[in-house]
Amino acid sequence: MAKRILIVEDEEQLSSLVADYLHADGFETEIRADGRSGLEAALAGGFDLVLLDVMLPLMDGFEVCRALRAESDLPVLMLTALREDGDKIRALGLGADDYVTKPFSPAELVARIRSHLARYDRLTGRAEGASERWVRDGELEVNQASRRVRRDGSEVALTAKEFELLLLFMRNADRVFAKDEIYERLWGEEHYGESSTVAVHIRRLREKIEDDPSNPRRIETVWGMGYRWKAGL
Ligand code: CA
Repeated sequence: MAKRILIVEDEEQLSSLVADYLHADGFETEIRADGRSGLEAALAGGFDLVLLDVMLPLMDGFEVCRALRAESDLPVLMLTALREDGDKIRALGLGADDYVTKPFSPAELVARIRSHLARYDRLTGRAEGASERWVRDGELEVNQASRRVRRDGSEVALTAKEFELLLLFMRNADRVFAKDEIYERLWGEEHYGESSTVAVHIRRLREKIEDDPSNPRRIETVWGMGYRWKAGL
């Protein structure tokens, strides 16, 4: 089945150019020209990935990304004209999976989209035969169907929440998660001063999967922002 891409971009020339490239590559697309209707379309479902411009009428791309992330894991690629690193970090901190700086080559954009879709399918178990599959991430292997984890080939016993935390990170490599967001994702509630709960789970998970938990390589602390998963080689 063709993958469906939602393009949220107010520059008509650019959105139709991108749509043409995607159609030529076998994708289906839908275009929204402002942030509010883009968010509505994304939340209504039926898409495999969102291409999201930053500067948009009614609601900017950062706001759309934040609102979407409160509800959904849908891969988001931000299209940004902003060259400052601070804005890129902001995009990733709000839950975008990646960003592409304008002007970009459409061929490169399509390649990035393909790679994100493949990764998402693999980690959400939507790829064919996924139930027997062990997904490898460096020295770690995870089987989502049986909820088992191996590290360098040896079984690691994780609690249910530790497993969910690991999956959340692995599905979102390089993305910065604030403690509040982790809490909401894992416990499904608003955050009421529960960041210590998250810190405790992070510490326990590090003790089980890191070579040196006091000098973590996989779950990085991003000072003042939260945590970020570094994908293994
Ligand atoms: Ca724009």
